[in-house]
Amino acid sequence: MIASETTTPTNFIRKIIDEDLAQHKTKGRVHTRFPPEPNGYLHIGHAKSICLNFGLASEYGGKCNLRFDDTNPDKEEKEYVEAIKQDVSWLGYDWQGRECYSSDYFEQLYDYAADLIKQGKAYVDSMSADEIREYRGSLTQSGQDSPYRDRSVDENMDLFERMRKGEFKDGEHVLRARIDMASANISLRDPVIYRIKKASHHRTGDEWNIYPLYDFTHCLSDAIEHITHSICTLEFEDNRALYDWVIDNLDTPSTPHQYEFARLNLDYTVLSKRKLIELVTEGHVSGWDDPRMPTLSAIRRRGYTAKAIRDFCERIGVTKNDTRIDMSVLENSLREDLDKQTPRVMAVLRPLRVVIDNYPDDMEEQLEAANHPNDPNMGNRKLDFAKVIYIERDDFMEEPVKKFFRLSPGKEVRLRYAYFITCNEVIKDADSGDVIELHCSYDPDSRGGNSPDGRKVKGTLHWVSERHAIKAEVRLYDRLFSKANPDKGDGDWKQFLNPESVEILTDCLLEPGLRHAKAEDRFQFERLGYFCADKKDWSSDKPVFNRTVTLRDSWKKIKAS
Ligand code: ATP
Ligand code: MG
Repeated sequence: MIASETTTPTNFIRKIIDEDLAQHKTKGRVHTRFPPEPNGYLHIGHAKSICLNFGLASEYGGKCNLRFDDTNPDKEEKEYVEAIKQDVSWLGYDWQGRECYSSDYFEQLYDYAADLIKQGKAYVDSMSADEIREYRGSLTQSGQDSPYRDRSVDENMDLFERMRKGEFKDGEHVLRARIDMASANISLRDPVIYRIKKASHHRTGDEWNIYPLYDFTHCLSDAIEHITHSICTLEFEDNRALYDWVIDNLDTPSTPHQYEFARLNLDYTVLSKRKLIELVTEGHVSGWDDPRMPTLSAIRRRGYTAKAIRDFCERIGVTKNDTRIDMSVLENSLREDLDKQTPRVMAVLRPLRVVIDNYPDDMEEQLEAANHPNDPNMGNRKLDFAKVIYIERDDFMEEPVKKFFRLSPGKEVRLRYAYFITCNEVIKDADSGDVIELHCSYDPDSRGGNSPDGRKVKGTLHWVSERHAIKAEVRLYDRLFSKANPDKGDGDWKQFLNPESVEILTDCLLEPGLRHAKAEDRFQFERLGYFCADKKDWSSDKPVFNRTVTLRDSWKKIKAS
């Protein structure tokens, strides 16, 4: 059970459940569902809904179903079903075998629709989609009755049966609920509940020529599964009246209720499957699991932990106010989780060669290093040290700016866990003038990085030994969009894709112990951030790491420092 992981602040949905339980409204039961449409991969917004639905069920000793809302055969695929199952499991939730599909209820849904027809509460409309839209009216204008609204029950039944048999073309007829064309709530203006669609379905094949619409399917699926609290996002608020109308007008096995909460909006990304699909199919990213994507599979590949995502979802809370969340909230949840459990190692991403002139040519040492600065239980390791090492290019400045406490000519710094070194000479490329090598001397009495005589050095650098280091590719990810709210308005949101959202460094050097890492292992590269061995491309011959997150807030600050 995950619910008790953190002290959970209450939210309005918990209050509703508490009241329902106090009034014995649901016979003491709490049964929720997470209802993804299998038309794409899950994203961090879905995680909010997953944590809420599964979290509530586990808190109240209830159940949560995983329900695939698969009523649109055009866009749905088995690949997505499998990916969704993997992602929900990875997040740490278990549907205990209750893997449900709306398509399993197609026969029952057909019978419910027939029941509405028989009650005179549904009719077959033969207007075109455009006419139906026109007749629907607007927020300020009442709708108009379709000329087919008063067809007899027999005619409606006959047409509906023939729709099912495939006698008509797509769009020729629809089945509509007969409610109220003058309703202030447009959802109640005789909504379409079935349409003709001659398409193969990923589960039912070619069995059906008609498919039920979301508003009709969802509430009845909830009723069939005995869901007590059907929790969805705010855009369905107006549809609640239709939800209730369907349940009230049919003899269903249970009477579920719908509650709405604000969806998660996260800065510098987009959380809409339609848009994410575009990014994938148009090749703006390498796939659904490209580590820049907000999908759970991408976030996982990037190195996020499931716990960090659950903490984040708890932290942002559940309200009815639409807000945008800053990426730093998610990153802080992640840093908190990673800090405690992630071993520290040394890696040099942009290497600069350093020769320690007074260190004997053949000497090698193994220096003791802690795997975690605050957790002795994580133990120590030995670091190989020798005459030639590499440091980070950024850690040297020939003409240091103010407050630059790292290496520069004549200055002394500490090599972490190793020695104090002083820079004596700078070698440059004759053509380009770039610094290509430094010559330094070390103080043999500073072994372990400890000051021999109380003298202080301000900078401590990470390093690797040339003779021992292993090569690696490191992928540095930045935000996918350069604008906080790229999909605001109707403009071209893709113009805000960040052209610098990934930088691939192929000549990185790692301390040799990382040879034994496995795909998905996480490390803190000291002073650089948290990194994760890439799930897909990792091999021990060619290590590939993804930067999960920097050590401090804001990429930009880090870049500038
Ligand atoms: P999208 O807009 O990305 O296509 P959707 O709502 O169409 O998402 P569904 O597969 O229907 O995707 O969503 C499954 C569940 O997840 C629904 O209950 C939906 O309300 C919820 N959900 C989707 N996006 C978010 C979000 N950004 N924040 C919270 N819950 C969400
Ligand atoms: Mg949807």
